Amino acid sequence: MADRSFLSWPFFEDKHRALAEGLDAWCAANLHVDHSDTDAACRSLVAMLGQGGWLKHSGAGEGEALDVRSLCIIRETLARHDGLADFAFAMQGLGMGAVSLFGTPEQRKWLDKTRAGQAISAFALTEPGSGSDVARTATTAVRDGDGFILNGEKTYISNGGIADLYVVFARTGEAPGAKGLSAFLLPADTPGLEIVERIEVVAPHPLAHLRFNDIRLPASAMIGQPGRGFQVAMSVLDVFRSTVGAAALGFARRALDEALARVKERQLFGAPLHELQMVQGHIADMALDVDASALLVYRAAWTKDMGAPRVSREAAMAKLNATEAAQRVIDTALQLHGGDGVRKGFIVESLYREIRALRIYEGATDVQKVVIARAALDA
Ligand SMILES: Cc1cc2nc3c(=O)[nH]c(=O)nc-3n(C[C@H](O)[C@H](O)[C@H](O)COP(=O)(O)OP(=O)(O)OC[C@H]3O[C@@H](n4cnc5c(N)ncnc54)[C@H](O)[C@@H]3O)c2cc1C
Repeated sequence: MADRSFLSWPFFEDKHRALAEGLDAWCAANLHVDHSDTDAACRSLVAMLGQGGWLKHSGAGEGEALDVRSLCIIRETLARHDGLADFAFAMQGLGMGAVSLFGTPEQRKWLDKTRAGQAISAFALTEPGSGSDVARTATTAVRDGDGFILNGEKTYISNGGIADLYVVFARTGEAPGAKGLSAFLLPADTPGLEIVERIEVVAPHPLAHLRFNDIRLPASAMIGQPGRGFQVAMSVLDVFRSTVGAAALGFARRALDEALARVKERQLFGAPLHELQMVQGHIADMALDVDASALLVYRAAWTKDMGAPRVSREAAMAKLNATEAAQRVIDTALQLHGGDGVRKGFIVESLYREIRALRIYEGATDVQKVVIARAALDA
């Protein structure tokens, strides 16, 4: 049983504690999905999470705000049970983040579907020539009458190939660099959208390279103001970056649980493995990493929920620390399993694959360091 003591920290309200307990029980009863077909598993997880009512937290209904503590608790809990379930939940939130924060009433109708698990969403920012350097976005949306013509490519797009709608960031040219981008809502059945390649990664989930071939978009597809696409993207990441930390925390907690069970049960040199002091040292390091990550993740989430306009520094610290710490915790848990640690079918083996990409996407670790250093230097 994972440590639940963090739920009594002052960051939380009773509704968060109830959410954590309720979701944990739901996961134990329901998350037994076959992962052999990743697309089918994701579709089924989105539908299940919708029916269970959990996806309503992934987007903000009319007049509501996203509750970042709820997002983090859900991601942590799902990640502890099933990485693909966390992915399915997270992408409904990230994909629709721009609509939750800036959508028109018409655009928000999509939220009714994504929050019910009846439509799958995606967030399309990264391009072959611009990953960390968003200001170099080359995809263009050129004004044409009362609409736009979209051309370009996006890569590493989660849910690419199975999504019902994509939020796409493109250059509209109001100014050079980051000040000339806008965000658009693109339904997947729009003529001209091409799935060029499905990308396979160490922890399988739907991922694709997309091409936009002279796609005609109505003016009403624009999310937020023209030329404000970079701010839209950064505002979305400001909310969801802490939740990546929460997912990493969930993976780390699971790894710690697996390690604890293993060292209590495994007999070596005439005693359980946990009696060796060097093993106890590893356990202490893991427990410390888990709690330090939880403190930073929920500090960032609480700060945002208390009304801070931006939490770039707090979210960067939370994401950087939690993802790097989870990698260490999982690696140690795997080591304590010996040969079984690298064996298919063992939880620590899949956690070892699951954690890696979190140190790269939504801002790589080095990019988070730049954010933290800038905040420190500006203070
Ligand atoms: C599994 C997975 C899922 C993804 N899902 C999505 C998605 O749904 N939507 C989307 O838009 N994108 C998605 N991405 C893309 C992801 O956001 C990018 O991979 C990430 O932003 C890094 O960009 P890049 O791969 O082009 O690496 P690059 O930008 O080439 O960076 C490579 C490395 O250079 C270093 N570096 C970069 N910038 C700096 C800096 N300023 N200072 C110091 N060092 C630096 C870092 O070590 C970094 O890892 C996903 C990626 C993966 C792996």
